[in-house]
Amino acid sequence: MNEVMKETTHLPVMEHFYTLQGEGFHQGKAAYFIRLGGCDVGCVWCDVKDSWDVAKHPLLDVGSLMLEVKKTPAEIVVITGGEPLMHDLDELTNELKAAGLRTHIETSGAYPQSGTWDWICVSPKKFKPPLPEILPVAHELKIVVFNRSDLDWAEKYAALVSPGCKLYLQPEWDKATEMTPLIIEYIQANPQWELSLQIHKYINVP
Ligand code: SF4
Repeated sequence: MNEVMKETTHLPVMEHFYTLQGEGFHQGKAAYFIRLGGCDVGCVWCDVKDSWDVAKHPLLDVGSLMLEVKKTPAEIVVITGGEPLMHDLDELTNELKAAGLRTHIETSGAYPQSGTWDWICVSPKKFKPPLPEILPVAHELKIVVFNRSDLDWAEKYAALVSPGCKLYLQPEWDKATEMTPLIIEYIQANPQWELSLQIHKYINVP
């Protein structure tokens, strides 16, 4: 097997910005987002396809990123992608936590975990399933609903997370008109689930 040394001090950053978390349990809270480039999961409905090619995104050193984060009063930093766990996130989260910041990640779970996290949101994808070991440590399971059959598929993963894990169903943005009523009906019948809407898209923030 070829062992590739993963870079830890420099990461391919597609964009980084201070905004409100638009989805899931922390919806509505101020958060600094760092979107890393690179993803091979291949969701057909992906709304950040520009993230896929890692070579398109400049390598930034963790120290420079920290300076940008510290210019804001952010208390939460969300690492997203792309698929952020394609990269070694130990150094980045060490620095964030040393600065007293809360570290959150949004991942498909398709790659081994690195980094130290206060909140792990796993959003499994059919195109490249999550590794089994990430599901029991997830704080939040977020299923993007593109088809009615995704509701049954969601239950397969709900059975694999810890009892305290928050469960969210989120309509895929372009299918929201069709899927949201189905999700509402499903949650009423299965109240362990909650609705997640991409409120950042409604309020027009990144
Ligand atoms: S895992 Fe995320 S970034 Fe990757 S293809 Fe799917 S939606 Fe896009």
